[in-house]
Amino acid sequence: MCLGLPMRVVAPGHVATVAGPEEWAFLPERHALPAVVAPFTPGGLARALRRAAELAVAGEARLENAYPAAVRPGGNPTARALLAEVFEVVKVPWRGIGRLPASGYALRGPYLERDARLRLAHLAAEEEDAEPGGMPGACACACAEVILGRRYPDACPLYGRPCTPATPVGPCMVSAEGACRIWWAAGARPGRRRPRRAREALP
Ligand code: SF4
Repeated sequence: MCLGLPMRVVAPGHVATVAGPEEWAFLPERHALPAVVAPFTPGGLARALRRAAELAVAGEARLENAYPAAVRPGGNPTARALLAEVFEVVKVPWRGIGRLPASGYALRGPYLERDARLRLAHLAAEEEDAEPGGMPGACACACAEVILGRRYPDACPLYGRPCTPATPVGPCMVSAEGACRIWWAAGARPGRRRPRRAREALP
């Protein structure tokens, strides 16, 4: 997030609650970026944003934890042990990005029989075959471009017709965290004028 200030990162607290804030240490260590672990409450998020901006302005590339009520050094050992028992870390496809090594979980051992990728192998194969920047199969959804910041949600020809939260066509309209769903919740509708910041051309 820039907002006219040097680059800094607000790190999602739910990840750090389980994995520990150390998961984000690569940001200051490898990329010289200040990072602040944040909760999801409006006040907590605002405080984390402010602290991240302060660090960025001061030129201090370090990791801070603004969510100490839930995020502890080393994370949650019980949750980590359960994750290690049930999952293994594997190379997985990411929508719009392609396959990245050691970037996802797959069920292991006795849990394999519950793996939807095996039960719905034809859908999994489409996802695997999707080109970076594209969507699986013949889907007209533009989520890959939206996620990569190449297209605004309402520039998708399906936005609002027929894709709405009640009749989602793609994943970006399903989740409350999806870009298209967020635009919809903010009142963006086909044919309506966009907010000024969203009128800038995308790269
Ligand atoms: S979720 Fe819907 S509006 Fe968003 S890109 Fe996909 S089809 Fe288009």
